[in-house]
Amino acid sequence: MEQDYQNIFKTQQEYFQSTLKTERVFNRKERLRKLKKWIKQNQNSIQEALYNDFKKVPEEVLISEIKPVISEINHALKSLRDWTAHQKVTTPISLIGARARIIPEAKGVCLVIAPWNFPFMLAVGPVISALAAGNTVVLKPSEMTPHTEQLLQRLFKEVFSPKLATVVTGGVKETQQLLELPWNHIFFTGSPQVGKVVMRKVASLLTSVTLELGGRNPAIITEKAVLTNTAKKLAWGKFFNNGQSCVSPNYILIDKKIKEQFIREFKFEFVEMYGNYPKEIKNNKSLTRIVNQHHYKRLTSLLDKAIENGAKVLFGNHRDEKDNYLSPTLLDNVTPDNPIFKEEIFGPILPILTYETKKDALNIVLSTDTPLAFYVFTESKKEQNYFLKNTRAGTTVFNDTTLQFAHPNLPFGGIGTSGIGKAHGYYGFLEFTNQRSVLKQRTWGAISQLIYPKYNTLKKAIIKIITWYE
Ligand code: NAD
Repeated sequence: MEQDYQNIFKTQQEYFQSTLKTERVFNRKERLRKLKKWIKQNQNSIQEALYNDFKKVPEEVLISEIKPVISEINHALKSLRDWTAHQKVTTPISLIGARARIIPEAKGVCLVIAPWNFPFMLAVGPVISALAAGNTVVLKPSEMTPHTEQLLQRLFKEVFSPKLATVVTGGVKETQQLLELPWNHIFFTGSPQVGKVVMRKVASLLTSVTLELGGRNPAIITEKAVLTNTAKKLAWGKFFNNGQSCVSPNYILIDKKIKEQFIREFKFEFVEMYGNYPKEIKNNKSLTRIVNQHHYKRLTSLLDKAIENGAKVLFGNHRDEKDNYLSPTLLDNVTPDNPIFKEEIFGPILPILTYETKKDALNIVLSTDTPLAFYVFTESKKEQNYFLKNTRAGTTVFNDTTLQFAHPNLPFGGIGTSGIGKAHGYYGFLEFTNQRSVLKQRTWGAISQLIYPKYNTLKKAIIKIITWYE
Protein backbone atom coordinates (compact mmCIF):
# COMPACT_ATOMS: atom_id res chain seq x y z
CA MET A 1 0.00 0.00 0.00
CA GLU A 2 2.75 2.41 1.07
CA GLN A 3 4.57 1.56 -2.14
CA ASP A 4 1.51 2.61 -4.19
CA TYR A 5 1.47 5.97 -2.47
CA GLN A 6 5.12 6.45 -3.25
CA ASN A 7 4.52 5.69 -6.92
CA ILE A 8 1.58 8.07 -7.09
CA PHE A 9 3.69 10.74 -5.44
CA LYS A 10 6.65 10.19 -7.74
CA THR A 11 4.52 10.21 -10.89
CA GLN A 12 2.91 13.50 -9.87
CA GLN A 13 6.25 14.99 -8.90
CA GLU A 14 7.68 14.19 -12.33
CA TYR A 15 4.63 15.56 -14.09
CA PHE A 16 4.76 18.74 -12.03
CA GLN A 17 8.42 19.28 -12.86
CA SER A 18 8.21 18.33 -16.53
CA THR A 19 4.90 19.96 -17.47
CA LEU A 20 2.99 21.96 -14.90
CA LYS A 21 5.77 24.28 -13.83
CA THR A 22 6.00 25.87 -17.25
CA GLU A 23 2.51 25.52 -18.67
CA ARG A 24 0.10 28.37 -19.43
CA VAL A 25 -2.67 29.46 -17.10
CA PHE A 26 -5.13 28.65 -19.89
CA ASN A 27 -4.60 24.90 -19.23
CA ARG A 28 -5.56 25.30 -15.59
CA LYS A 29 -8.77 26.97 -16.66
CA GLU A 30 -9.53 24.16 -19.09
CA ARG A 31 -9.25 21.64 -16.26
CA LEU A 32 -11.59 23.63 -14.06
CA ARG A 33 -14.10 23.91 -16.92
CA LYS A 34 -13.97 20.15 -17.39
CA LEU A 35 -14.56 19.61 -13.69
CA LYS A 36 -17.51 22.01 -13.72
CA LYS A 37 -19.06 20.21 -16.71
CA TRP A 38 -18.79 16.84 -14.94
CA ILE A 39 -20.40 18.18 -11.79
CA LYS A 40 -23.29 19.73 -13.74
CA GLN A 41 -23.86 16.51 -15.66
CA ASN A 42 -23.69 14.36 -12.53
CA GLN A 43 -25.77 16.43 -10.14
CA ASN A 44 -28.21 13.56 -9.54
CA SER A 45 -25.43 11.08 -8.79
CA ILE A 46 -23.93 13.48 -6.26
CA GLN A 47 -27.29 13.92 -4.54
CA GLU A 48 -27.82 10.16 -4.58
CA ALA A 49 -24.39 9.38 -3.07
CA LEU A 50 -24.94 11.80 -0.22
CA TYR A 51 -28.43 10.48 0.43
CA ASN A 52 -27.03 6.96 0.61
CA ASP A 53 -24.30 8.07 3.01
CA PHE A 54 -26.40 9.88 5.63
CA LYS A 55 -29.74 10.66 4.05
CA LYS A 56 -28.49 14.11 3.27
CA VAL A 57 -31.45 16.14 2.06
CA PRO A 58 -31.11 16.66 -1.75
CA GLU A 59 -31.94 20.37 -1.51
CA GLU A 60 -29.18 20.79 1.09
CA VAL A 61 -26.81 18.95 -1.24
CA LEU A 62 -27.58 21.54 -3.91
CA ILE A 63 -27.16 24.45 -1.49
CA SER A 64 -24.11 23.28 0.41
CA GLU A 65 -22.24 20.74 -1.72
CA ILE A 66 -22.81 21.53 -5.41
CA LYS A 67 -23.45 25.28 -5.62
CA PRO A 68 -20.41 26.32 -3.48
CA VAL A 69 -18.12 24.18 -5.65
CA ILE A 70 -19.52 25.62 -8.90
CA SER A 71 -19.17 29.15 -7.46
CA GLU A 72 -15.58 28.38 -6.45
CA ILE A 73 -14.79 27.29 -10.01
CA ASN A 74 -16.52 30.31 -11.57
CA HIS A 75 -14.69 32.66 -9.23
CA ALA A 76 -11.33 31.07 -10.09
CA LEU A 77 -12.07 31.16 -13.83
CA LYS A 78 -12.90 34.85 -13.60
CA SER A 79 -9.95 35.81 -11.41
CA LEU A 80 -7.10 33.48 -12.32
CA ARG A 81 -5.40 35.99 -14.64
CA ASP A 82 -5.20 38.53 -11.80
CA TRP A 83 -4.22 36.00 -9.16
CA THR A 84 -1.34 34.62 -11.23
CA ALA A 85 -0.05 37.98 -12.50
CA HIS A 86 3.54 38.83 -11.59
CA GLN A 87 3.55 41.79 -9.27
CA LYS A 88 6.24 44.42 -9.77
CA VAL A 89 7.29 46.12 -6.54
CA THR A 90 9.17 49.38 -6.04
CA THR A 91 12.83 49.26 -5.08
CA PRO A 92 14.27 51.17 -2.12
CA ILE A 93 17.07 53.68 -2.58
CA SER A 94 19.66 51.29 -1.13
CA LEU A 95 18.95 48.86 -3.99
CA ILE A 96 18.79 51.41 -6.79
CA GLY A 97 19.34 49.78 -10.15
CA ALA A 98 17.78 46.46 -9.14
CA ARG A 99 14.29 45.39 -10.23
CA ALA A 100 11.95 43.32 -8.08
CA ARG A 101 8.78 41.32 -8.56
CA ILE A 102 6.69 38.65 -6.85
CA ILE A 103 5.77 35.53 -8.77
CA PRO A 104 2.87 33.45 -7.40
CA GLU A 105 4.10 29.95 -8.22
CA ALA A 106 2.61 26.53 -7.50
CA LYS A 107 3.98 24.70 -4.48
CA GLY A 108 4.11 21.29 -6.21
CA VAL A 109 2.59 17.98 -5.17
CA CYS A 110 -0.23 18.55 -2.69
CA LEU A 111 -2.33 16.36 -0.42
CA VAL A 112 -5.95 17.20 0.47
CA ILE A 113 -7.50 15.33 3.41
CA ALA A 114 -11.27 15.75 3.71
CA PRO A 115 -13.88 15.19 6.46
CA TRP A 116 -17.29 13.48 6.20
CA ASN A 117 -19.69 16.27 7.07
CA PHE A 118 -19.72 18.01 3.67
CA PRO A 119 -17.95 15.11 1.97
CA PHE A 120 -18.20 16.39 -1.60
CA MET A 121 -17.71 20.13 -1.16
CA LEU A 122 -14.90 19.93 1.40
CA ALA A 123 -13.05 17.46 -0.83
CA VAL A 124 -13.50 19.20 -4.18
CA GLY A 125 -13.25 22.81 -2.89
CA PRO A 126 -9.56 22.63 -1.85
CA VAL A 127 -8.78 20.59 -4.98
CA ILE A 128 -10.07 23.53 -7.07
CA SER A 129 -7.72 25.91 -5.21
CA ALA A 130 -4.80 23.49 -5.65
CA LEU A 131 -5.39 23.10 -9.40
CA ALA A 132 -6.04 26.82 -9.90
CA ALA A 133 -2.63 27.46 -8.35
CA GLY A 134 -1.02 24.98 -10.79
CA ASN A 135 -0.31 22.04 -8.48
CA THR A 136 -0.87 18.33 -8.75
CA VAL A 137 -3.13 16.90 -6.07
CA VAL A 138 -3.91 13.69 -4.23
CA LEU A 139 -7.28 13.66 -2.46
CA LYS A 140 -8.01 11.45 0.55
CA PRO A 141 -11.78 11.63 1.20
CA SER A 142 -13.38 10.56 4.46
CA GLU A 143 -13.89 6.83 4.89
CA MET A 144 -17.10 7.55 6.83
CA THR A 145 -19.05 8.49 3.69
CA PRO A 146 -18.24 5.56 1.36
CA HIS A 147 -20.76 6.41 -1.40
CA THR A 148 -19.31 9.88 -1.84
CA GLU A 149 -15.81 8.39 -1.65
CA GLN A 150 -16.70 6.12 -4.59
CA LEU A 151 -18.28 8.96 -6.52
CA LEU A 152 -15.14 11.07 -6.06
CA GLN A 153 -13.02 8.20 -7.38
CA ARG A 154 -15.19 8.07 -10.48
CA LEU A 155 -15.10 11.85 -10.92
CA PHE A 156 -11.30 11.96 -10.78
CA LYS A 157 -10.93 9.00 -13.15
CA GLU A 158 -13.26 10.59 -15.71
CA VAL A 159 -11.94 14.15 -15.47
CA PHE A 160 -8.22 14.06 -14.62
CA SER A 161 -5.15 12.09 -15.51
CA PRO A 162 -3.78 10.48 -12.30
CA LYS A 163 -0.46 12.22 -12.81
CA LEU A 164 -2.36 15.49 -12.27
CA ALA A 165 -5.03 14.54 -9.73
CA THR A 166 -6.13 11.31 -8.12
CA VAL A 167 -8.10 9.90 -5.20
CA VAL A 168 -6.71 7.50 -2.62
CA THR A 169 -9.00 5.86 -0.09
CA GLY A 170 -8.57 4.66 3.47
CA GLY A 171 -8.89 5.58 7.13
CA VAL A 172 -6.48 6.41 9.91
CA LYS A 173 -3.75 3.91 8.97
CA GLU A 174 -3.68 4.92 5.31
CA THR A 175 -3.74 8.64 6.12
CA GLN A 176 -0.82 8.18 8.49
CA GLN A 177 1.12 6.44 5.70
CA LEU A 178 0.32 9.28 3.32
CA LEU A 179 1.65 11.76 5.86
CA GLU A 180 5.09 10.11 5.66
CA LEU A 181 5.59 11.45 2.12
CA PRO A 182 7.36 14.78 1.45
CA TRP A 183 4.31 16.71 0.19
CA ASN A 184 4.83 20.29 -0.88
CA HIS A 185 1.60 21.24 0.88
CA ILE A 186 -1.09 19.51 2.93
CA PHE A 187 -4.62 20.90 3.17
CA PHE A 188 -6.42 19.17 6.05
CA THR A 189 -10.06 19.67 7.05
CA GLY A 190 -11.18 17.89 10.20
CA SER A 191 -11.14 17.94 13.97
CA PRO A 192 -8.60 19.85 16.09
CA GLN A 193 -7.48 16.52 17.63
CA VAL A 194 -6.52 15.03 14.25
CA GLY A 195 -5.17 18.40 13.11
CA LYS A 196 -2.59 18.08 15.88
CA VAL A 197 -1.72 14.55 14.72
CA VAL A 198 -1.17 15.85 11.17
CA MET A 199 1.03 18.70 12.33
CA ARG A 200 3.12 16.46 14.59
CA LYS A 201 3.53 13.89 11.85
CA VAL A 202 4.75 16.35 9.22
CA ALA A 203 6.94 18.45 11.52
CA SER A 204 10.06 16.43 10.76
CA LEU A 205 9.67 17.23 7.04
CA LEU A 206 8.69 20.88 7.64
CA THR A 207 5.76 20.42 5.27
CA SER A 208 3.52 23.47 5.03
CA VAL A 209 -0.04 22.85 6.21
CA THR A 210 -3.45 24.42 6.06
CA LEU A 211 -5.58 23.18 8.94
CA GLU A 212 -9.32 23.82 8.66
CA LEU A 213 -10.57 22.71 12.08
CA GLY A 214 -13.61 23.10 14.30
CA GLY A 215 -14.55 24.27 17.75
CA ARG A 216 -17.33 25.61 19.90
CA ASN A 217 -19.13 28.39 18.07
CA PRO A 218 -21.05 30.79 20.33
CA ALA A 219 -24.27 32.56 19.37
CA ILE A 220 -24.79 35.55 21.64
CA ILE A 221 -28.26 37.12 21.76
CA THR A 222 -28.63 40.47 23.48
CA GLU A 223 -31.68 42.50 24.47
CA LYS A 224 -31.14 44.56 21.33
CA ALA A 225 -31.67 41.58 18.99
CA VAL A 226 -34.74 41.24 16.77
CA LEU A 227 -35.96 38.04 18.38
CA THR A 228 -38.26 36.54 15.74
CA ASN A 229 -35.63 37.03 13.08
CA THR A 230 -32.91 35.67 15.38
CA ALA A 231 -34.94 32.57 16.23
CA LYS A 232 -35.63 31.81 12.56
CA LYS A 233 -31.98 32.15 11.56
CA LEU A 234 -30.75 30.02 14.46
CA ALA A 235 -33.31 27.28 13.86
CA TRP A 236 -32.05 27.05 10.27
CA GLY A 237 -28.34 27.51 11.06
CA LYS A 238 -28.34 24.92 13.84
CA PHE A 239 -30.26 22.12 12.15
CA PHE A 240 -28.90 22.55 8.63
CA ASN A 241 -27.04 19.27 7.88
CA ASN A 242 -28.51 18.20 11.25
CA GLY A 243 -26.00 20.32 13.15
CA GLN A 244 -23.06 18.48 11.58
CA SER A 245 -21.34 21.59 10.35
CA CYS A 246 -18.12 23.28 11.45
CA VAL A 247 -19.93 26.65 11.47
CA SER A 248 -22.99 25.38 13.33
CA PRO A 249 -23.79 27.34 16.53
CA ASN A 250 -22.58 25.16 19.40
CA TYR A 251 -24.46 27.02 22.12
CA ILE A 252 -26.73 30.01 22.65
CA LEU A 253 -25.70 32.60 25.18
CA ILE A 254 -28.67 34.84 25.86
CA ASP A 255 -29.53 37.74 28.12
CA LYS A 256 -31.50 36.19 30.99
CA LYS A 257 -34.33 38.74 30.61
CA ILE A 258 -35.29 37.63 27.09
CA LYS A 259 -34.73 33.88 27.37
CA GLU A 260 -38.37 32.82 27.77
CA GLN A 261 -39.51 34.96 24.86
CA PHE A 262 -36.69 33.60 22.68
CA ILE A 263 -37.61 29.99 23.52
CA ARG A 264 -41.21 30.63 22.44
CA GLU A 265 -40.05 32.19 19.16
CA PHE A 266 -37.50 29.43 18.55
CA LYS A 267 -40.09 26.67 19.08
CA PHE A 268 -42.46 28.42 16.68
CA GLU A 269 -39.79 28.74 13.95
CA PHE A 270 -38.65 25.16 14.48
CA VAL A 271 -42.19 23.84 14.04
CA GLU A 272 -42.57 25.90 10.84
CA MET A 273 -39.46 24.24 9.37
CA TYR A 274 -39.53 20.69 10.73
CA GLY A 275 -42.99 20.01 12.19
CA ASN A 276 -44.56 19.74 15.61
CA TYR A 277 -44.99 16.11 16.66
CA PRO A 278 -42.19 13.55 17.10
CA LYS A 279 -43.40 11.40 14.19
CA GLU A 280 -43.91 14.41 11.94
CA ILE A 281 -40.39 15.68 12.71
CA LYS A 282 -38.84 12.25 12.12
CA ASN A 283 -40.61 11.81 8.78
CA ASN A 284 -39.80 15.34 7.69
CA LYS A 285 -37.87 15.26 4.44
CA SER A 286 -35.77 18.29 5.43
CA LEU A 287 -33.73 16.62 8.16
CA THR A 288 -30.44 14.87 7.38
CA ARG A 289 -29.44 11.93 9.60
CA ILE A 290 -26.47 11.54 11.96
CA VAL A 291 -23.65 10.10 9.89
CA ASN A 292 -23.18 6.72 11.64
CA GLN A 293 -23.62 4.63 14.80
CA HIS A 294 -20.40 5.89 16.31
CA HIS A 295 -21.59 9.52 16.16
CA TYR A 296 -25.14 8.54 17.19
CA LYS A 297 -23.72 6.93 20.35
CA ARG A 298 -21.36 9.86 20.98
CA LEU A 299 -24.25 12.35 20.74
CA THR A 300 -26.82 10.41 22.79
CA SER A 301 -24.27 9.78 25.53
CA LEU A 302 -23.31 13.48 25.53
CA LEU A 303 -27.00 14.35 25.84
CA ASP A 304 -27.50 11.85 28.70
CA LYS A 305 -24.53 13.34 30.56
CA ALA A 306 -25.87 16.86 30.00
CA ILE A 307 -29.24 15.85 31.51
CA GLU A 308 -27.53 14.11 34.47
CA ASN A 309 -25.72 17.38 35.09
CA GLY A 310 -28.89 19.45 35.29
CA ALA A 311 -29.81 20.29 31.69
CA LYS A 312 -33.56 20.39 30.99
CA VAL A 313 -34.96 19.15 27.66
CA LEU A 314 -37.26 21.83 26.20
CA PHE A 315 -38.02 19.71 23.16
CA GLY A 316 -36.52 16.77 21.31
CA ASN A 317 -34.52 13.79 22.63
CA HIS A 318 -36.53 11.27 20.58
CA ARG A 319 -34.28 8.45 19.44
CA ASP A 320 -34.14 5.65 16.89
CA GLU A 321 -30.79 3.89 16.99
CA LYS A 322 -31.47 1.82 13.85
CA ASP A 323 -31.91 5.01 11.82
CA ASN A 324 -29.10 6.98 13.56
CA TYR A 325 -31.86 9.37 14.51
CA LEU A 326 -31.83 11.80 17.41
CA SER A 327 -34.51 14.45 17.04
CA PRO A 328 -33.41 18.09 17.22
CA THR A 329 -33.09 18.88 20.89
CA LEU A 330 -33.18 22.20 22.73
CA LEU A 331 -31.64 22.26 26.21
CA ASP A 332 -32.21 24.77 28.99
CA ASN A 333 -30.44 25.14 32.39
CA VAL A 334 -27.00 24.55 30.93
CA THR A 335 -24.10 26.08 32.82
CA PRO A 336 -20.44 26.36 31.75
CA ASP A 337 -19.51 23.38 33.96
CA ASN A 338 -21.92 21.04 32.13
CA PRO A 339 -19.99 18.50 29.99
CA ILE A 340 -22.05 19.46 26.92
CA PHE A 341 -20.59 22.97 27.03
CA LYS A 342 -17.07 21.59 26.97
CA GLU A 343 -17.24 19.85 23.59
CA GLU A 344 -17.91 20.61 19.96
CA ILE A 345 -21.40 19.03 19.70
CA PHE A 346 -21.50 18.50 15.92
CA GLY A 347 -25.07 17.25 15.94
CA PRO A 348 -28.70 18.26 16.57
CA ILE A 349 -28.42 19.40 20.21
CA LEU A 350 -28.58 23.09 21.11
CA PRO A 351 -27.85 24.15 24.71
CA ILE A 352 -28.98 27.52 26.03
CA LEU A 353 -26.84 29.37 28.57
CA THR A 354 -27.77 32.72 30.08
CA TYR A 355 -25.87 35.81 31.17
CA GLU A 356 -26.72 38.86 33.26
CA THR A 357 -24.11 41.35 32.04
CA LYS A 358 -22.23 41.63 28.76
CA LYS A 359 -19.00 41.15 30.67
CA ASP A 360 -20.30 37.76 31.93
CA ALA A 361 -21.15 36.77 28.35
CA LEU A 362 -17.70 37.81 27.20
CA ASN A 363 -16.02 35.81 29.97
CA ILE A 364 -17.94 32.67 28.99
CA VAL A 365 -16.83 33.05 25.37
CA LEU A 366 -13.24 33.74 26.40
CA SER A 367 -13.20 30.64 28.62
CA THR A 368 -13.35 28.40 25.53
CA ASP A 369 -10.88 27.78 22.73
CA THR A 370 -10.89 30.24 19.85
CA PRO A 371 -13.99 29.44 17.75
CA LEU A 372 -14.17 29.03 13.98
CA ALA A 373 -17.39 31.05 13.89
CA PHE A 374 -18.71 33.66 16.29
CA TYR A 375 -22.30 34.86 16.00
CA VAL A 376 -23.74 37.96 17.64
CA PHE A 377 -27.40 38.89 17.37
CA THR A 378 -27.94 42.55 18.16
CA GLU A 379 -29.00 45.68 16.32
CA SER A 380 -26.67 47.80 18.46
CA LYS A 381 -23.44 48.82 16.73
CA LYS A 382 -21.91 49.49 20.13
CA GLU A 383 -22.57 45.92 21.24
CA GLN A 384 -21.34 44.53 17.91
CA ASN A 385 -18.06 46.42 18.37
CA TYR A 386 -17.76 45.37 21.99
CA PHE A 387 -17.92 41.67 21.13
CA LEU A 388 -15.82 42.05 17.97
CA LYS A 389 -13.00 43.92 19.68
CA ASN A 390 -12.80 41.80 22.80
CA THR A 391 -12.78 38.32 21.23
CA ARG A 392 -10.86 36.27 18.67
CA ALA A 393 -12.52 34.06 16.05
CA GLY A 394 -11.93 32.77 12.54
CA THR A 395 -15.10 34.41 11.24
CA THR A 396 -17.72 36.66 12.81
CA VAL A 397 -21.29 37.23 11.71
CA PHE A 398 -23.78 39.75 13.04
CA ASN A 399 -27.47 38.80 12.88
CA ASP A 400 -27.09 35.58 10.92
CA THR A 401 -25.29 32.24 10.90
CA THR A 402 -23.40 30.06 8.43
CA LEU A 403 -23.61 32.42 5.42
CA GLN A 404 -20.02 33.67 5.80
CA PHE A 405 -19.10 30.38 4.14
CA ALA A 406 -20.87 31.41 0.95
CA HIS A 407 -19.11 34.73 0.41
CA PRO A 408 -16.44 34.25 -2.27
CA ASN A 409 -14.37 37.28 -1.23
CA LEU A 410 -14.13 36.42 2.45
CA PRO A 411 -11.28 34.21 3.67
CA PHE A 412 -12.66 31.15 5.46
CA GLY A 413 -10.74 29.51 8.28
CA GLY A 414 -9.95 29.49 11.96
CA ILE A 415 -7.50 30.98 14.39
CA GLY A 416 -5.61 29.19 17.15
CA THR A 417 -7.36 25.92 17.95
CA SER A 418 -9.87 26.32 15.09
CA GLY A 419 -7.21 26.29 12.41
CA ILE A 420 -4.24 27.64 10.53
CA GLY A 421 -4.54 29.25 7.10
CA LYS A 422 -7.58 30.15 5.01
CA ALA A 423 -9.74 28.64 2.29
CA HIS A 424 -11.93 29.93 -0.58
CA GLY A 425 -11.25 32.05 -3.62
CA TYR A 426 -8.04 34.05 -3.61
CA TYR A 427 -7.21 32.95 -0.05
CA GLY A 428 -7.46 29.27 -0.99
CA PHE A 429 -5.28 29.96 -4.04
CA LEU A 430 -2.67 31.60 -1.78
CA GLU A 431 -2.45 28.54 0.49
CA PHE A 432 -1.29 26.46 -2.48
CA THR A 433 1.08 29.14 -3.79
CA ASN A 434 4.60 30.22 -3.00
CA GLN A 435 4.94 33.99 -3.27
CA ARG A 436 8.35 33.81 -4.86
CA SER A 437 10.47 36.96 -4.61
CA VAL A 438 12.66 37.72 -7.60
CA LEU A 439 15.32 40.42 -7.48
CA LYS A 440 17.16 41.24 -10.68
CA GLN A 441 20.42 43.09 -10.13
CA ARG A 442 22.44 45.08 -12.67
CA THR A 443 25.85 43.72 -13.66
CA TRP A 444 27.29 47.23 -13.72
CA GLY A 445 27.13 50.17 -11.36
CA ALA A 446 24.98 48.51 -8.67
CA ILE A 447 25.30 50.81 -5.69
CA SER A 448 25.20 47.88 -3.28
CA GLN A 449 28.86 47.23 -4.15
CA LEU A 450 29.74 50.51 -2.45
CA ILE A 451 29.24 48.87 0.94
CA TYR A 452 31.72 46.03 0.39
CA PRO A 453 34.91 46.11 2.54
CA LYS A 454 37.42 47.57 3.10
CA TYR A 455 35.67 50.14 5.24
CA ASN A 456 37.76 53.25 4.56
CA THR A 457 36.59 56.80 5.31
CA LEU A 458 34.63 57.12 2.05
CA LYS A 459 32.88 53.72 2.53
CA LYS A 460 32.08 54.59 6.11
CA ALA A 461 30.40 57.79 4.94
CA ILE A 462 28.42 55.95 2.26
CA ILE A 463 27.28 53.28 4.74
CA LYS A 464 26.19 56.03 7.11
CA ILE A 465 24.05 57.58 4.38
CA ILE A 466 22.60 54.26 3.17
CA THR A 467 21.78 53.00 6.66
CA TRP A 468 20.41 56.31 7.91
CA TYR A 469 17.07 55.90 9.65
CA GLU A 470 14.55 58.13 11.38
P1 NAD B 1 -11.61 13.89 11.58
O1 NAD B 1 -10.52 14.78 12.08
O2 NAD B 1 -12.00 12.73 12.41
O3 NAD B 1 -11.22 13.28 10.14
C1 NAD B 1 -10.78 14.10 9.07
C2 NAD B 1 -9.89 13.26 8.14
O4 NAD B 1 -8.75 12.82 8.85
C3 NAD B 1 -10.56 12.02 7.57
O5 NAD B 1 -10.24 11.92 6.20
C4 NAD B 1 -9.96 10.87 8.36
O6 NAD B 1 -9.81 9.69 7.60
C5 NAD B 1 -8.60 11.40 8.76
N1 NAD B 1 -8.17 10.93 10.10
C6 NAD B 1 -8.97 10.66 11.16
N2 NAD B 1 -8.21 10.30 12.23
C7 NAD B 1 -6.92 10.34 11.82
C8 NAD B 1 -5.66 10.07 12.44
N3 NAD B 1 -5.59 9.67 13.72
N4 NAD B 1 -4.53 10.22 11.71
C9 NAD B 1 -4.58 10.62 10.43
N5 NAD B 1 -5.75 10.87 9.78
C10 NAD B 1 -6.90 10.74 10.46
O7 NAD B 1 -12.85 14.87 11.29
P2 NAD B 1 -14.30 14.49 10.84
O8 NAD B 1 -14.99 13.75 11.94
O9 NAD B 1 -14.30 13.87 9.49
O10 NAD B 1 -14.96 15.95 10.68
C11 NAD B 1 -15.48 16.66 11.76
C12 NAD B 1 -14.53 17.73 12.28
O11 NAD B 1 -14.06 18.52 11.20
C13 NAD B 1 -15.18 18.69 13.22
O12 NAD B 1 -14.31 19.02 14.27
C14 NAD B 1 -15.45 19.91 12.36
O13 NAD B 1 -15.59 21.12 13.07
C15 NAD B 1 -14.26 19.90 11.47
N6 NAD B 1 -14.54 20.60 10.21
C16 NAD B 1 -13.92 21.77 9.94
C17 NAD B 1 -14.22 22.45 8.78
C18 NAD B 1 -13.57 23.77 8.42
O14 NAD B 1 -13.71 24.17 7.27
N7 NAD B 1 -12.89 24.43 9.33
C19 NAD B 1 -15.15 21.92 7.89
C20 NAD B 1 -15.75 20.70 8.20
C21 NAD B 1 -15.44 20.04 9.36
